[in-house]
Amino acid sequence: MIYFDNAATSFPKAPGTGKAVCDFLENASVNTNRGAYKMAYDADRLVFDTRTKLARLLGCGDSERVIFTSGVTASLNLFLMGGFFGEGDHIIISSMEHHAVTRPVLQLQKKGVSVSVACAGKNGILRPEEVEKYICSQTKAIIINHASNVCGRIAPIAEIGDIAKKNDLIFAVDSAQSAGVIPVSAEEMGIDFLAFSGHKGLLGPQGIGGFVISERLSKILPPFTLGGTGSLSDSFEMPDFLPDKYEGGTLNLPGIAGLSHSLDFINEIGIENIRQKEIALTDYLLEGLKSIPEARVTGGTEGERLSVISLDFPGRDNSEISFLLDNKSGIMTRVGLHCAPLAHKTLGTFPKGTLRVSFGYFNTFEEVDIFLKALKKLV
Ligand code: PLP
Repeated sequence: MIYFDNAATSFPKAPGTGKAVCDFLENASVNTNRGAYKMAYDADRLVFDTRTKLARLLGCGDSERVIFTSGVTASLNLFLMGGFFGEGDHIIISSMEHHAVTRPVLQLQKKGVSVSVACAGKNGILRPEEVEKYICSQTKAIIINHASNVCGRIAPIAEIGDIAKKNDLIFAVDSAQSAGVIPVSAEEMGIDFLAFSGHKGLLGPQGIGGFVISERLSKILPPFTLGGTGSLSDSFEMPDFLPDKYEGGTLNLPGIAGLSHSLDFINEIGIENIRQKEIALTDYLLEGLKSIPEARVTGGTEGERLSVISLDFPGRDNSEISFLLDNKSGIMTRVGLHCAPLAHKTLGTFPKGTLRVSFGYFNTFEEVDIFLKALKKLV
């Protein structure tokens, strides 16, 4: 079995993550923020420690500004759909966005929010000037996908952060593909809202993620999920302090236990080492693909990228190739539009889509050799 679909969700998870989830469920599964007994304090400590680890990893000076949700989609829905944007507002997104942005944004358009799409090139590279040119007096926010889940291209986040700051705009970033794989720092990159996913590069379980929010945005962004927080229960209003303001309802504590464990693993290995390994695998694959001209690398092979590579086989059905790779050689790839039709339009692969290979830290060169051999035979 060879798993090359880490951009969808990482597998395997960090060693021991499943055990950490089970241990919590079996031995410590009480609620947090609500109980005045020792086990509840232990759960509070687990949540606090995990926030602290995330704050350190994602460049946030204050762990209370790390908010838990189920992932990037839930975080971006909170940001976009909670009433912060209304008629007459203008936002800028990139043409490399995932449906976690484009679907909520369509609903905003229906409510009178105007949207400009800053186009990346056919190689998937987004130039900061392309974003800047759309800024107008109505612009309220810029929302950018840090790294493409289709072709692995990395957006110039720090430069766009400078542009947002210069123009006093809210800057939101989708770090679904980048967190845990390349350095991401909300504060250094001028990000007001950094949505992260626990189950991809952070090597944790599905259903846990969240966002980091800047102090200034936390004062003006309304809460989205209204409910019990275990605090200020005499009031019918949501608390206005963090993290409670955005965390109505019971948290995914088993997910947090797993994520806490996987974050320790990432810290132990080091993001630099994870990145080096993934770059080496990617370079090795791209080199090997030179001997398979039938496979076209979407967005080209030059320049910096994550270990996410999309392939198209002109004249062939990409789905059939993906199916045969699995069926004959046990190699799992992902075919289609990857919930990012706008990105595929940008890259010239819409509506056919591509066959996507995405590596994780645990993949090996031997697996890439097996893939190249199997692909050669198929095409
Ligand atoms: N944004 C991008 C770029 C993604 O690749 C994905 C997942 O595929 C998401 C958002 C959705 O993330 P989540 O599963 O955490 O909701």
